[in-house]
Amino acid sequence: MILVSACLLGVDCKYSGKSNDSEAVRDYLKGKIFVPVCPEQLGGLPTPRPTCEIVGDRVINEHGEDCTMQFVKGAEEVVKIAELLNVNEALLKEGSPSCGCNRIYDGTFSGSKIAGAGLTAKMLKSRGILVMSDEEL
Ligand code: SF4
Repeated sequence: MILVSACLLGVDCKYSGKSNDSEAVRDYLKGKIFVPVCPEQLGGLPTPRPTCEIVGDRVINEHGEDCTMQFVKGAEEVVKIAELLNVNEALLKEGSPSCGCNRIYDGTFSGSKIAGAGLTAKMLKSRGILVMSDEEL
């Protein structure tokens, strides 16, 4: 069972109200059993929503509001689903403060990225789940 960032499958759960639909992801998943999830929606954030970036140990939106609690809740809910379904692999959207696996925005809202991972990706990894990004396909 593979857990997948729902936006990669055409679900309009992205901050903009759109998706990150990926043909490469669809091809990779052909014939496999998978479950789409969006941690930010599961954490209670609306769609569309302001963009968020990780700043130190917090997650802050573009208006300066602290959304850490919703991001942590979303990661916990995704882990709950992963454990319920015996997920052993996750395919997540690179760059997101929730789903990013290797790179995240640098917290300045300038479009620059740095090495790092989102809260959900980190929490899944800590539970022994193999995490990879759409850019690694
Ligand atoms: S939280 Fe993850 S699944 Fe949801 S829109 Fe962002 S990258 Fe996609």
